[in-house]
Amino acid sequence: MTVSSTHAETIVLHAGFRKDPATNAVAVPIYQTTSYQFDSADHAANLFALKELGNIYTRIMNPTCDVLEKRLAALEGGVAALAVSSGQSASMMAIHNIAQAGDNVVSSTDLYGGTWNLFGNTLKTMGIETRFVDPKDPQAFARATDDKTRAYYAETLPNPKLEVFPIREVAEVGKKLGVPLIMDNTAAHGLCRPFDHGAAIIASSCTKYIGGHGNSIGGIIIDSGKFDWEGNAKRFPLLNTPDPSYHGAVWTQAVKPLGPIAYIIKARVTLLRDQGQAMSPFNAFLFLTGLETLPLRMERHCQNAAKVAEFLSKHPKVARVIYPGQMSGEARRRADAYLKGGYGGLVGFELKSGYDGGKKFINALGLFYHLANIGDSRSLAIHNASTTHSQLSAEEQLATGVTPGYVRLSVGLEHIDDIIADLKKGLDAA
Ligand code: PLP
Repeated sequence: MTVSSTHAETIVLHAGFRKDPATNAVAVPIYQTTSYQFDSADHAANLFALKELGNIYTRIMNPTCDVLEKRLAALEGGVAALAVSSGQSASMMAIHNIAQAGDNVVSSTDLYGGTWNLFGNTLKTMGIETRFVDPKDPQAFARATDDKTRAYYAETLPNPKLEVFPIREVAEVGKKLGVPLIMDNTAAHGLCRPFDHGAAIIASSCTKYIGGHGNSIGGIIIDSGKFDWEGNAKRFPLLNTPDPSYHGAVWTQAVKPLGPIAYIIKARVTLLRDQGQAMSPFNAFLFLTGLETLPLRMERHCQNAAKVAEFLSKHPKVARVIYPGQMSGEARRRADAYLKGGYGGLVGFELKSGYDGGKKFINALGLFYHLANIGDSRSLAIHNASTTHSQLSAEEQLATGVTPGYVRLSVGLEHIDDIIADLKKGLDAA
């Protein structure tokens, strides 16, 4: 029996797995195995020829990872997914799967620093150019597009600015020009489903809210199954011309009988095969465990963050609060259009006492952890100017939204009174 539901709370508990076929175990077993015995020579040949899908070797697929993939695909309304070793691997593979030397990607400037480095430096060394554009202007994506553009890329809820990306507007630009929108939904899983707004692919970190407990690194690529790779064959030669690494398979044709999974199957059987950034089954198990409570945790993260934003907005030492629920104009419209059930767990604020005040604030905290992460059950804080953004010039910091007194909070699940009490301690010192 399979449980079908459109509700996130049910999907995260039931999609993709009811019980272990071998033991009837209800918790998803950790299949800690490298390889899988073939039933027969024909069975093996069929698996390798992709005539049927099944387990060959854990670098390429694993039953524990498979449940996580199915569950996250169901949560996001996609057709299939691929679990990888980190969020960084997910963004790298999401691009590399369709772009090669000479191609370009148009990306929002509002990006996680690791993605910024990947796009601005590492992809560049591979001959793939990234054209950064301001997400405030969706038409900027159209202007930066040419016949070598292979994807648009953005984050749903990017920090530190926390201005929600215009998903539908840019997806529509992409649809007209035949360019897929890839969304990093890391900070908004459970609040926004980018596929509902026209995005083609999701490339996210599982390390944050999906895992939720700060204990494992992982990433996920999800295919909506809706982008017309074949109809835009000229733009996507890697999916529409014979692949010499797989007996000349043309991906849009080779797996057609299995569904609209050309993009995600190619990522698995070529890039994951060749580069090997697989998720470990143990991490998949931890992500599955975390995922079971994602909707519940998100609800509380959002409630606590709203109260923190409210408290900070009234504090005399705070110059400005950066929080989607306190924005106005177009930024607020986008937050309301794309985030459902709350404005997320992240809150930024600017101390009037600037750079030194930021460091004093951090040093006085007792409950909040001072570290470079988001999405943990515990509350986290970081003073970006002296840490994550310290290698950037003052002008570059400002362009990313980091002022000298900017502090980023990832508001956790502790009791709100304890969270506020700790912030008060920090603010007294700042
Ligand atoms: N995307 C976003 C929005 C992130 O915040 C991060 C990490 O902080 C990543 C991607 C990279 O994920 P990972 O650390 O799992 O490689």
